[in-house]
Amino acid sequence: MTAWIITTSSNISHLLSLAGDAETTAIVIGDAPIAGVHRALRFPLEPGVPAESLAGVVAQRVAASGTDVVLAENTAVGRVIAGAIAATLGAPVVTGATAVGEEITRIRYGLVEERIARTGVVVLVADGGEPAEGAVPEEETVTAQGYAARVAATNAAAKESVDLKAAKRIVGVGRGFENIEDLAIARDFAHAIDAQIGATRPLVDGTHWFGRDQYLGISGHVVAPDVYVAAGVSGQIQHTAGIAESGTIIVINDDELSPIFELADYGIVGDLYEILPALAKELQ
Ligand SMILES: Cc1cc2nc3c(=O)[nH]c(=O)nc-3n(C[C@H](O)[C@H](O)[C@H](O)COP(=O)(O)OP(=O)(O)OC[C@H]3O[C@@H](n4cnc5c(N)ncnc54)[C@H](O)[C@@H]3O)c2cc1C
Repeated sequence: MTAWIITTSSNISHLLSLAGDAETTAIVIGDAPIAGVHRALRFPLEPGVPAESLAGVVAQRVAASGTDVVLAENTAVGRVIAGAIAATLGAPVVTGATAVGEEITRIRYGLVEERIARTGVVVLVADGGEPAEGAVPEEETVTAQGYAARVAATNAAAKESVDLKAAKRIVGVGRGFENIEDLAIARDFAHAIDAQIGATRPLVDGTHWFGRDQYLGISGHVVAPDVYVAAGVSGQIQHTAGIAESGTIIVINDDELSPIFELADYGIVGDLYEILPALAKELQ
């Protein structure tokens, strides 16, 4: 089996483990050092040129290779290029793969293991992992003209970005919050306990009150803070799979039958609109 790995970084250890015994070729876009693959094709990027501009030429190069498997890092750039390759090859894209051979094994929603027969070339999108160990491969540099795109200016985003994986304390908010203005209650409480705020799917994909950096659960971020406070969160499996490893879980919910209470170290049955401000006041 041959596998082509598409990356903009050195972090390909997980992609390599998926490739198993395959003969590996890395397409490296940009200047990140690479190791652990059999050979590498490097597509340098001029300053200000986004990596996505090379999606078409990279796709053409991969299509000409006749490879069995394409592995792309699960980043915004990786997904764009994986899509271009899949479209060029007429190949399926599979996410969540755990093993690749004649069959692909994958986990769906953290719940179900699926085995998919591989009938032709397939594109896998997966976490890159850590910087790979191993020999530095022979490299060929490819000078290619992508589509014309250049970043004209870069300004810091006004919005503070949140790193939930690094947070020691997280307040998870759910549909128990009725209006976007009411989130001030959660923010005051989070401020009082020095926590970051994360959210359930309806508040990310439904109301769009939060970005994906604050999405908790199996389709968002899987986290393990020292303290997780769930407020107005019912505790469906797709959510709890993302927070179950937290140290201490505190639940505030007005329905004592909500499944989230099964995970709780401490549970308060009541109205979050009363409880969160009262707790914040006490803690301050
Ligand atoms: C394929 C798939 C993937 C998914 N992935 C994810 C994922 O990664 N993350 C995720 O979060 N979800 C995910 N979901 C959605 C998930 O199944 C649930 O629908 C979602 O987690 C429910 O969000 P919630 O708890 O905010 O809302 P609800 O289930 O509506 O719960 C709201 C809770 O708030 C309580 N409440 C209401 N008012 C108050 C009040 N005033 N005070 C206190 N409590 C109150 C209610 O009793 C209820 O328990 C996924 C679903 C699918 C199908």
